[in-house]
Amino acid sequence: GFKCGIVGLPNVGKSTLFNALTRTAAAQAANYPFCTIEPNTGEVAVPDPRMEKIAAITKSKGIIPTRISFVDIAGLVRGASKGEGLGNQFLANIREVDAIVHVLRCFEDDDITHVEGRIDPVADAETVETELMLSDLESLERRIVQFRKRATGKDKEATTVLPVMERALELLQAGKPTRLLLTELDPEGLRILRDLNLLTSHPVLYVCNVAEGDAATGNAYSAAVEKMAAAQGAGTVVISAAIEAEVAQLPDDDAREFLADMGLEEPGLNKVIRAGYALLHLITYFTAGPKETRAWTIEKGTKAPQAAGVIHTDFERGFIRAQTIGYEDFVTLGGEVAAKEAGKARDEGKDYVVQDGDVMLFRFNT
Ligand code: GDP
Repeated sequence: GFKCGIVGLPNVGKSTLFNALTRTAAAQAANYPFCTIEPNTGEVAVPDPRMEKIAAITKSKGIIPTRISFVDIAGLVRGASKGEGLGNQFLANIREVDAIVHVLRCFEDDDITHVEGRIDPVADAETVETELMLSDLESLERRIVQFRKRATGKDKEATTVLPVMERALELLQAGKPTRLLLTELDPEGLRILRDLNLLTSHPVLYVCNVAEGDAATGNAYSAAVEKMAAAQGAGTVVISAAIEAEVAQLPDDDAREFLADMGLEEPGLNKVIRAGYALLHLITYFTAGPKETRAWTIEKGTKAPQAAGVIHTDFERGFIRAQTIGYEDFVTLGGEVAAKEAGKARDEGKDYVVQDGDVMLFRFNT
């Protein structure tokens, strides 16, 4: 599954947010209880109202949402790249994630110490980013020596990997994160970049943790973060960890009412997940039957056999074809039989690119 690492300086609200996110999810998916894999990892159900619509039509007994996990990565401090504080553990954890959720303190509170002694989320973001860049720079400078030698000797792997390494090094030396390469490289280059395991190559979502009263509107701090994020191609979400913590403890109806009182339409979890999905270019397809309606997460551009492989590797290996009904057709026509009669159940082959919301039935050899 996809994994988001929650990072940020100490005392910005990471743990409050992590606990709230994972508990809210438990409430939202009673039939798929929140489970703790490791102390700091929580799997959350991806809320998607389309599942209920499909399940009502197929009379599914159960609904199984797709999940993504959040990892609360221990506080990073200035000097982490040199192994200070929890630095090394932090860097090890952050390598394992697909995306970074970077929490920034956008609330004032004299009782809560700020490690840098002032509220400045843009400067905080730079502090964290600098540590990540320094760590990448060091590890890349170390590894590139070998690759340059091997490339001179016409080593095949080295000649393909080296140009990506050189480009990454160039960016880091100019004080820029390697995620700028994400929009520049072809699929092969992206694979190479991923294998380099650089901290700054992960896409970033900035979460502005604002005071309760600012949750609906944002504030000057979050506006500054939004401006910074836009320039970097990163995402931004404005939430109040304090509100989320309260919402997480309320039953559904009360939670909705409480959110409405604060001028909010939905819990912050939904916003974070939507933004995370967009950031990672993720989409959802469905399988549906009397037993269950189930959602599956894939990357945009995934073809039918690989999409089937998310369910089971046998589905991918023995893939024959996939009966595919678009979500809108499925719901407006009223299910599989009606869609078939209307000629809206397509038989798609191995080159079909799965679309968001597709309701799929795979045929495969065992
Ligand atoms: P972490 O070190 O980043 O994990 O931060 P915590 O989640 O432990 O929060 C640090 C302190 O800030 C705790 O006392 C929280 O109750 C408090 N805090 C977190 N979010 C907010 C917020 O939105 N507003 C205010 N006033 N305090 C908050």
